[in-house]
Amino acid sequence: MPYSTQPTASHFIDGQYVDDTAGDVIEVIYPATGKVIARVHAATPAIINQALTSAQRAQKEWAAMTGTQRGRVLRRAADIMRERNRDLSVLETWDTGKPLSETLYVDATSAADALEYFGGLAGSLTGEHIPLGNGDFVYTRREALGVCVGIGAWNYPTQIAAWKGAPALACGNAMVFKPSETTPLCALKVAEILHEAGLPAGCYNVIQGMGAVGAALVTDPRVAKVSLTGSVPTGRKVYAAAAAEMKHVTMELGGKSPLVIFDDADLESAVSGAVLANFYSSGQVCSNGTRVFVQRGIRKAFVARLIERLKTGVVLGDPMDEATNFGPMSNARQLEIVERYLRQGVAEGATLAHGGNRVGNEGFYIEPAVFTDVTDDMSIAREEIFGPVMSVLDFDTEEEALTRANATEFGLAAGVFTADLTRAHRMVAGFEAGTCYINTYNLAPVEAPFGGSKGSGVGRENSKLAINHYSEMKSVYVAMNPCEAPF
Ligand code: NDP
Repeated sequence: MPYSTQPTASHFIDGQYVDDTAGDVIEVIYPATGKVIARVHAATPAIINQALTSAQRAQKEWAAMTGTQRGRVLRRAADIMRERNRDLSVLETWDTGKPLSETLYVDATSAADALEYFGGLAGSLTGEHIPLGNGDFVYTRREALGVCVGIGAWNYPTQIAAWKGAPALACGNAMVFKPSETTPLCALKVAEILHEAGLPAGCYNVIQGMGAVGAALVTDPRVAKVSLTGSVPTGRKVYAAAAAEMKHVTMELGGKSPLVIFDDADLESAVSGAVLANFYSSGQVCSNGTRVFVQRGIRKAFVARLIERLKTGVVLGDPMDEATNFGPMSNARQLEIVERYLRQGVAEGATLAHGGNRVGNEGFYIEPAVFTDVTDDMSIAREEIFGPVMSVLDFDTEEEALTRANATEFGLAAGVFTADLTRAHRMVAGFEAGTCYINTYNLAPVEAPFGGSKGSGVGRENSKLAINHYSEMKSVYVAMNPCEAPF
């Protein structure tokens, strides 16, 4: 790894890199080769304590600054991120295996967007004045929660670190962030840049570790809020642990989202939507529209054009080569999961119409795969795979498509492609999902709320709504008259 991009120790606490070699060794594996590129140590109880103590101390100083001052730090950090976009993108590629042709455009850049957006909002976070009778009034104070914990998944390590950190810091909180053990490097750089931009030491700490470190953070009484990006089973555990002490939560969890394509949709555009909904980041995107419902009249043409586009357009290879647009799976375990679902799909009677073969002798490469003849009861149509596996399902009527689209425990995202404006809005109103798309898919600008309904989560990230999840209102009744009592 080039020296300039490599973090210099396992953890970032109180404004500096620190290590405790007593912690278990976590090997960082480059997904394109399967080789170890770095080693970090999991946080020991001493490191966990150090991070929380430093966050608790620093938060008071940070919250006492004006919103404008806090915002200035975040916006400066956004500028530094943009200046170093290439280095940060290379690091994201080392960490995840996602091709540089993606990471240059969506990782550090979207992290910078979040820092800039919430930095811009910080100065305008206020309470309100509520006039009452007799001159009495109530005013509300928007206050920080205190120490927030962020726990990340491995698919967007830079973005997740910033999507949680930016609103938390804008509101005057401090954060302790634990990245996924498979992608530990990028969040360290986010912490380094924030402090370089003027964040007081201790306001944003990163510590490494497996689930046990996350669990220790979630249950610590010093922690006021937990924001998790991860799978539904982990979400259930973390939510329950946080609930035991009545902590605030944001849960960004998995999905099995529907993408409904009607006969009247523009074919080329619908195929593009399905590609974006299934194969970007080698399919490792939580909001992916992996159940692609295609109306029977357009189905044949859709599948033919989709496969043609995959055959001619996919450039699978070295992620550092900017011509590559399809990288490996991010880790060996995820590759195994994808291969298991490919076997299961065939065993349950679906047709593997394209792809699904392992590629090369090293790294975790697998071709994008398309199943047709999929029915709603098959495992590949019910369970989140988190890989490049698209299921094409046929349907006849709008009503049928909506009922089947909603027949899932998940509710993260949903999309519709149609030329009929009223139908598009009808479908979106009917979708049981938090993040919906009309004639596009998987875009997540910081200005828009992002998150799931039903089993896919609680709360929203991004947009002004995220402020409510990182602050709370104190209501203050001010009497302008003598206080009266009944006796
Ligand atoms: P996991 O649920 O396995 O892990 C998520 C994080 O939680 C990791 O850092 C993990 O640590 C940690 N963790 C595991 N157990 C516990 C515990 N008991 N207490 C506290 N923390 C714990 O998810 P993956 O990392 O495999 O990521 C893939 C999942 O994330 C998919 O389901 C995907 O849909 C979802 N996701 C959701 C997004 C959204 O915004 N809705 C976005 C991106 C992904 P470790 O793994 O290091 O042991």
